Amino acid sequence: MAMSKLPSTNKESSEKISVQNVSKSYESMQALEDVSFSVPEGEFCCVVGPSGCGKTTLLRAIAGLDDLDSGSVLVDDDPVTGPGLDRGMVFQEYALFPWRTVRGNIRFGLDRPACDCADCEGRVRELVDLVGLDDFEDAYPKELSGGMKQRVGIARALAPDPEILLMDEPFASVDARTRDRLHAELLDIWAQTEQTVVFVTHDIDEAVTLADRVVVMGTDPGTVQSTFSIDLERPRERTDHDFVDYVAKIRDELGSPTDTR
Ligand code: ADP
Ligand code: MG
Repeated sequence: MAMSKLPSTNKESSEKISVQNVSKSYESMQALEDVSFSVPEGEFCCVVGPSGCGKTTLLRAIAGLDDLDSGSVLVDDDPVTGPGLDRGMVFQEYALFPWRTVRGNIRFGLDRPACDCADCEGRVRELVDLVGLDDFEDAYPKELSGGMKQRVGIARALAPDPEILLMDEPFASVDARTRDRLHAELLDIWAQTEQTVVFVTHDIDEAVTLADRVVVMGTDPGTVQSTFSIDLERPRERTDHDFVDYVAKIRDELGSPTDTR
């Protein structure tokens, strides 16, 4: 898929998201310890780390879905105190409403989910079109493939036109070919919307395919280990020497074999 433009990588940008010394535990389990990093406006940031290192916990912290033990998350220098329409979240397991159609699910992401005014209807149609589900507006989630469900999840998250898109292993359950297509489509949407994206994955190839910058997390407890700027043109080729090099460096940093397809 052709990309309309290559956004923001070289743009002079300010911090959009700032995670400052965040710690979070569940009962006796320390999920995140003193995690700090920031994401400049318009950046596509991937967070990689092994299962259980606190990636979902970190994303939920940015979304404002959970209370923190200590530290804070700032968006545009303002502390996050709860969920907001400025941050759209795409969940790993789709989290669609089974009793709503594609249109109904997407509509739910709007500021006014019950409103059927021309503007809201138009916005829903625009989103259906954006994620390529034109013939499936009236389908229910059970009638859709994994890739299509996640398109609905993305459209729902995009509905209020958030400045920040938070994605938690959104393509972990779709087949490799569909995933490749969704990567291209996501980059295309990002180029159009110029959003700041935090995309969580345990898949290093996926991170190097998508990211401006990869944040590597370590486990027990979850911490930020290091970050890598991915200085490659898009679209990227997995067989490209520099691509392979980045993957190897990040795998070394993670220190143990992870699922890299
Ligand atoms: P990841 O997304 O990287 O796999 P998570 O953020 O889901 O990691 O989890 C980090 C750690 O916190 C894991 O050990 C997990 O078992 C634990 N954990 C996550 N959510 C809860 C919860 N609601 N209650 C108890 N422990 C949890
Ligand atoms: Mg997770």
